[in-house]
Amino acid sequence: MMTATSITNHAPYNHYSHFLRERYAGKRVYKIIVDAGFTCPNRDGNKGFGGCAYCNVDSFTPETRKLPSLQRQIEESAARARKNYKAEKFIVYFQPNTNTYADADTLKRIYDEALSVLPEDTVGLSVGTRPDCLDTEKVQLLQSYCHQGFFVDVEMGMESIYNNTLQQINRQCSHEDFVNAIDLLNETPVEVCVHTIFGLPGENRKMMLKYIDEINRLAKIRYIKFHHLHIVSGSILGVKYQREPFPLFSLEEYTDLLCEMLPRLRPDVVIQRLFGISDPEVLIAPKWNLKKSQIQNYIEGEIRRRNIVQGSGFINIV
Ligand code: SF4
Repeated sequence: MMTATSITNHAPYNHYSHFLRERYAGKRVYKIIVDAGFTCPNRDGNKGFGGCAYCNVDSFTPETRKLPSLQRQIEESAARARKNYKAEKFIVYFQPNTNTYADADTLKRIYDEALSVLPEDTVGLSVGTRPDCLDTEKVQLLQSYCHQGFFVDVEMGMESIYNNTLQQINRQCSHEDFVNAIDLLNETPVEVCVHTIFGLPGENRKMMLKYIDEINRLAKIRYIKFHHLHIVSGSILGVKYQREPFPLFSLEEYTDLLCEMLPRLRPDVVIQRLFGISDPEVLIAPKWNLKKSQIQNYIEGEIRRRNIVQGSGFINIV
């Protein structure tokens, strides 16, 4: 387990890029986002219609997407990453929509295809999904890639730990579903990345701080993506917000929240992202009017200025 002391050697928190460099012996590893054309059960009526209230449904609808083949997506993205970032190794990352929303045979065909494009340089498989779209057969399939030598992680939306909130945002999935999905993965080498959203309507700071206790309790969680709530056009919350605006985080308020959360967070959890990013063309609010790197620098600057260290206040309650 990484300790708070080893964290301070690099950064005051367990940074994903440092983690990747250590895991892959200094090689530059890049995540290639691929879109296999999956849809989502919270849109096609299987679980619900309209999607989660914060999700921009239009941007993903299959009819409007003319997808290049997986091979072309991977080859083109890898070529750009080699040129721009000197990337050497790749993690194939199925990101848009629900990437386990098909039967296990179909999933195997799709994952196999993606992993065979750059066999020498592909080191991992990352799959974004909903907690209610995993079962034993799919978990076994994911596990089979670990046995082939790939690092595999499932990126799952927890979003909130409160069922009231999950209902209000039309998630069509409970916190118990999330915990059950983690249980399915518990005895496997498949890793878990949790996706959270802070600032959902009806939640105060004290409630949000409790997310960290829950993440600490679920020892299977290896990675985290922190997001602040974004209101985007094409979403249910976008319509509601434009009718009646409600409070959203300023950069200063959000940074302050992160600075209170980080010391409480288990020191071994690797942070993949500290804040949300949306296409400026669809972002309605909050508009911080800064580039991604400026936001990152501001938050990291505050973390350092306040001497915040991930896990320094973590209490292991077994
Ligand atoms: S956020 Fe994910 S689960 Fe919710 S509607 Fe969008 S794609 Fe589906």
